[in-house]
Amino acid sequence: MSEIRHNWTKEEILTIYNKPLMELLYDAASIHRLHHDPNTVQVSTLLSIKTGGCPEDCGYCPQAARYHTNVEGNDLMSVQQVKAQALRAKSSGSSRVCMGAAWRNVKDGEEFDQVLEMVRTINKLDMEVCCTLGMITENQAKRLAEAGLYAYNHNLDSSEEYYKEVISTRGFEDRLQTIDNVRKTNVTVCSGGIIGMGEAIEDRAGMLVALSTLNPQPESVPINALVAVEGTPLEDQKPVSIWEMVRMVATTRIVMPETQVRLSAGRTEMSREGQALCFFAGANSIFAGDKLLTTPNPDVNEDMEMFKLLGLNPQKPFIKKMQPQTVEASNSQYQALGEKPKWSRPEHKIERNEVAKVKAKAIK
Ligand code: SF4
Repeated sequence: MSEIRHNWTKEEILTIYNKPLMELLYDAASIHRLHHDPNTVQVSTLLSIKTGGCPEDCGYCPQAARYHTNVEGNDLMSVQQVKAQALRAKSSGSSRVCMGAAWRNVKDGEEFDQVLEMVRTINKLDMEVCCTLGMITENQAKRLAEAGLYAYNHNLDSSEEYYKEVISTRGFEDRLQTIDNVRKTNVTVCSGGIIGMGEAIEDRAGMLVALSTLNPQPESVPINALVAVEGTPLEDQKPVSIWEMVRMVATTRIVMPETQVRLSAGRTEMSREGQALCFFAGANSIFAGDKLLTTPNPDVNEDMEMFKLLGLNPQKPFIKKMQPQTVEASNSQYQALGEKPKWSRPEHKIERNEVAKVKAKAIK
């Protein structure tokens, strides 16, 4: 029951997902207790260090330049701004800062050097540092590792089959390639997905096959419920029910017993009772702070009240893995290579939100 398997099939995962709920919860909670302290939940703070203007076309994302949303773009934050936010996050109980930049892929140059400096700065605050910057090469992964990066986030989003219904500007295999590049370093992998994008339950299972058959499995797996943002192609999607979220969390816990399962976007729609069920089903990480990149999230004080109510404690940093050493830029072994990697641009098309486009033109 507690072994780590890398050969899960879609059929097996579907059988787990569709079990009677009480049985599913019991199995997931039992596995959870074998691998984790059930009263400890890791708290991460997500910072959008560069917002909006992204050239990609992820159908769920308000930061894609081609959609017409209310997101205001921002240039890359300064190292000092990031440090101030990290200190605030630390004082409110976060052990990890995850920095997100709305880029297709990382390009060597001044901006990446600035991100490396942010990584060094946060690592020196004795916090775990995570980045989500789009696709990265092996050399860039090594430079991040040297700076003291603890985790790299790169979500698979959905099953390989459904991926192309949501994103047309890159392929599923590009995601796997970036994860593989990160795996060539000692940086841990954070990779999960989103439910509620119109996918079938088979696609949810397909995504869990893709994640659980990675060897090693990702150290953290964020499970997001779609926040349907006006102006994106997925604006009309109905919210997922709490029961779907609980089933997804429980199934993730069962097929990836050691991973940290993170309740991510969509928590504002969940009651405390609903979140408590998710923790019982094996979720042991949350994103704190009133914004998740650009979408709303519960206030950190509300979360701490909920922790108190449920008897949960925030996890200290570096419990799972030692703090990485920080190498200063001047001592770096890995210099910028100025690579121009050929990430794919699949030909398939996704349906654009023409209504939003017309609406936005009319407002202008
Ligand atoms: S999810 Fe990331 S890559 Fe996709 S459009 Fe948004 S910012 Fe760009």
